Amino acid sequence: MVNRRNFIKTGTSLALGASIFPSGSRSYRTRNDKLGVALLGLGGYASGQLAPALQETQHCYLAGIVTGTPSKIPEWQEKYDIPDSNVYNYDNFDDIASNDAIDVVYIVTPNALHLPFAVRAAEAGKHVICEKPMEISSDRCREMIAACKKANRKLQIGYRCRYEAHHKQLMQYARNETFGKIKVIDSNFSFYGVNGSNWRFTDPELSGGGPLMDIGIYSLEATRYGSGLDPVSVTAQSYKSIPDKLPGMEESIFWQMEFPDGVVANCGSSYVARSNYVHISTEKGWYRIEPAFSYGGLKGVVNGEPMNIANHNQQAAQMDAFALNIRNNTPILGSGEEGLKDMIYIEGIYEAARSEQKVKF
Ligand code: NAD
Repeated sequence: MVNRRNFIKTGTSLALGASIFPSGSRSYRTRNDKLGVALLGLGGYASGQLAPALQETQHCYLAGIVTGTPSKIPEWQEKYDIPDSNVYNYDNFDDIASNDAIDVVYIVTPNALHLPFAVRAAEAGKHVICEKPMEISSDRCREMIAACKKANRKLQIGYRCRYEAHHKQLMQYARNETFGKIKVIDSNFSFYGVNGSNWRFTDPELSGGGPLMDIGIYSLEATRYGSGLDPVSVTAQSYKSIPDKLPGMEESIFWQMEFPDGVVANCGSSYVARSNYVHISTEKGWYRIEPAFSYGGLKGVVNGEPMNIANHNQQAAQMDAFALNIRNNTPILGSGEEGLKDMIYIEGIYEAARSEQKVKF
C-alpha cells in the first residue's frame, strides 16, 4: 500500500501527489499537497527570513520547529499555527522519525552544529536542508553527505543566491557566452561586524572562521556559478587591525583564484568594511550585481544598462526548488557536493593565506 511517506520517498510527480492526497485530508491543516518543513534552530535567520519565506512557498510549508529554547515555543506556535505534535527539543528530536507531517528538517544552527543535527535528521528519515557554510571542515561535509546517502535522503545547502533571478542570469551569460568568454571576476562581501557579540564573531569553535566562512563564501560561490568553472589554484592574504576582537579568526581576507581557460578572480571579505557586489568582465563587455548578496533590493547592470530583473523571495525559491527536487527526484542545484567543494576551496584559501604560497586544487 502506498502511504504518504513511501510516496514522497519514491519521488513521484507533484501532479500525481496532489490527486492521491487531496488538500484537506490532513488532520490539522489543508496543506498536505505541500511538504512539511521543520526549522531547527530558531535564531535570527530562521525567524527573520525562513519562517516568513515559508508563508510564500508553493510546494512546502512551515510544519514544525525544533528548539533548545522552550520560551520561544508559544510565540512560534501561535504565529505559525504549529501543533504540539510538531514541536521538538534537541533531546527528543529523534522522535521526529515517526512524524509523517515532517518531510524536511532545515538546520539553522551555528556552523559546527550542522553535522550532528543533519546526521540525526537523515537517520530519522527526513530530507535535510543545511545552512551555509555547510560545516567547518571538508571532512565534516563528507560525513554529512555520507549520512544522507546512507539514509537515502536528499541534502540541500542554503545557497539562496543560486535560486535568485539576477544570479541565475549570471549563470546563463556564462553558459551561453552572451558577451564572449569570461575573463575577470571581482567580488567582495563585507560588513562592519567586528564588535558583534554573536557566536560568529566570538567563537571560532562554532563558526570555523571569520568573514570568509560567513559571507566571503557568497563571493566564492558567485565566482564558481558565475563562470561555470571550478578554481585550479588560489593565493590569499589575511589581515587583522583590532587584535582583541574576532578571536581565532581573520578580520579581512583577500584571495585570487585561477580557473581553467585563463579566467581569474579577485575576491575579498571583511568584518571591517562595507562591500556587496560581483562584477564580471568578458571579452565583449561587463555586468555587475550590486548589492549582490542581500535578501532583496538586488540591482543588476549589464554594459551600463539596468538588467531589469525583478527581485523575489530568494529563500522561498530555494525551498520550493528543493521540495520539487524531492517530489520529482531531480538534481539539486545547491547540493551537498557543492557545499563540500566550497569547503575545500575555503580550506585552500586559509592555507594559502597562512603559508603565503599558492595552493593548487
Ligand atoms: P543565530 O545566532 O541568530 O541563531 C542560531 C540558533 O541556533 C539560535 O536559535 C540558537 O539558540 C541555536 N543554537 C543551538 N545550539 C547553539 C549553541 N551551542 N550555541 C549557539 N546557538 C545555538 O544565527 P543565524 O544568523 O540564524 O545563523 C544560523 C545559521 O544560518 C548559520 O550557519 C549561518 O551561517 C546561516 N545563515 C545563513 C544566511 C543566509 O542568507 N543563507 C543568513 C544568516 C545566517
